[in-house]
Amino acid sequence: MTLGPAANVGRELAGLERFGQVLEALPGPAYLVGGTVRDLMSRRPPRYDFDLAVVGDAERFAGHLAARLGGTLTTYGQFGTARVDYDDRAHVDVATARTETYTEPAALPDVAPADSIEEDLARRDFTINAMAISLPDARLIDRFDGIAHLRDRLVRVLHEASFVEDPTRIFRAARYETRLDFRMDPKTETLAMLAAPGVAQLSGARVREELFAIFEEDEPERILARLHELGIDAQLDVEFPAAPTDLQQRLRGLNEAYSLGLPRAHLGLLSIRAPEGWLDDIKVNRRIADGVEAARREEPFLRSALTGRADAPAEIVEAVERTGPDTALYTLARREDSALRRYFEQLRGVRLEVDGDDLRALGLEESPRVGEVLGELRRRKLNGELAGRAEELAAARELLAE
Ligand code: ATP
Repeated sequence: MTLGPAANVGRELAGLERFGQVLEALPGPAYLVGGTVRDLMSRRPPRYDFDLAVVGDAERFAGHLAARLGGTLTTYGQFGTARVDYDDRAHVDVATARTETYTEPAALPDVAPADSIEEDLARRDFTINAMAISLPDARLIDRFDGIAHLRDRLVRVLHEASFVEDPTRIFRAARYETRLDFRMDPKTETLAMLAAPGVAQLSGARVREELFAIFEEDEPERILARLHELGIDAQLDVEFPAAPTDLQQRLRGLNEAYSLGLPRAHLGLLSIRAPEGWLDDIKVNRRIADGVEAARREEPFLRSALTGRADAPAEIVEAVERTGPDTALYTLARREDSALRRYFEQLRGVRLEVDGDDLRALGLEESPRVGEVLGELRRRKLNGELAGRAEELAAARELLAE
C-alpha cells in the first residue's frame, strides 16, 4: 500500500472521481472526513459517498451546495445533518462539526456544536478514521497519526475510554481489521477485551445494526470469528463460529444462482447460532426471525424426509413446502443434497396452467375440493405425468368425474 504524503493530498483529491464538481460548487470552507479520507490516503478504490463536516450550519451549507450542483437536498432534522444527491447516484453527506459527551457508558452521547474541526475529530472511533482534509485548500489534518497507522496497518482508538463509552466501536474495529487486513494494536486489543462486557448494555437495535453492517462486508464470518475471540458473542448470549466456515459463501452463492433475492443481512442471520428468541431481542423483523429459527430447527427433519427421494419430485416439493421459507436454502447450504438441488433448479418453478377459474368452468363450486383437485394436478405435473394445459384440463375432468 502506498500512502499519499500530505503534499499529495491535492492530487489525490483531484483524482477522486465525481468529487471535482463538489469542490467547484463548495459554498464555503468545509472538511472531507471519515472513511473517504482513510480510503483516499491509502489509495483504496474511491466510493461515491462523501462525508463533509462544516463548522457551523450544515443544513444551510448543504442547501447552497445542492443548488450549485443542481442536486437534491434532504435534511434529517437530527443534529445538523443533510444529504445532497447529485449526478447519477453520487451523494454528499454534510454534518455540523460536533462534540460528543458520554454521561453513561453504552448510551447515546450528548451532542453539541464544535468550535473547530479538531474537536469533531477527537470524538471519532479510530485514528485512521479521524483525519480530515480541509477544503478547498486540500490540507490534511492528522492530529492522531492516522497516516502512520495506515502505513502500519493498525486500528487504534483515540483514548482509553473509547470502547467503554461506545462498545459498538468493538464491532467496528473487527470490521476494519478484516476489511482492510489491519490489526488492532496490542493496547487497543486489550482495551476491547476489557470493555467486552459493555456490549451487553447496548440496546438490541444497536446490536442488530452492528451485525447487519458486518453482514454487508465481504467476509462476515472472519469478522464474527474475531468477535468470538474477543469474547463479544458470549456477552450477548449468542455464539458466533470460532472459525470461518463456508456457510455464508454458500448461502450467498445459492441466493445468487437461484435469484432468491434475500438481502445479505437475512443470509447472515442464517449463519449464526442464536438461541430461540434472541433475534427477537435484537429487534429483527418477526417474519424473518421466524423463518431463520425454523430453518435451524427443521434442517434435520427436511434432510431425513428427502433421503432417497431425489427421484420423487412431488414428494420433494411436498416436504419442502411443509417447512418454513428459509429451510430448504439453509439445508442445502449446510450440505449438498441432490433432492434439494433438483428442487431449486427445476421443481420450484413448476406451475399449473389451469387454476380455480378453470375448475369452476368445469362445474366445480367454491369448496375445499378445489384445492384438493389443484393439489393432485400439481402432484401429477411435478411427476411428469401432465404436459400442457390441454392434458391438465383432461385430468381435471377425469378427477371431477370420480
Ligand atoms: P465505511 O462506510 O467504509 O464503513 P466510514 O468510516 O465511512 O466507513 P461510517 O460508519 O459511515 O464509516 O462512519 C463515518 C465516520 O464517522 C467514521 O469514519 C468515523 O470517523 C465516525 N464514526 C462512525 N461511527 C462512530 C462511532 N461509533 N464512534 C466514533 N466515531 C464514529
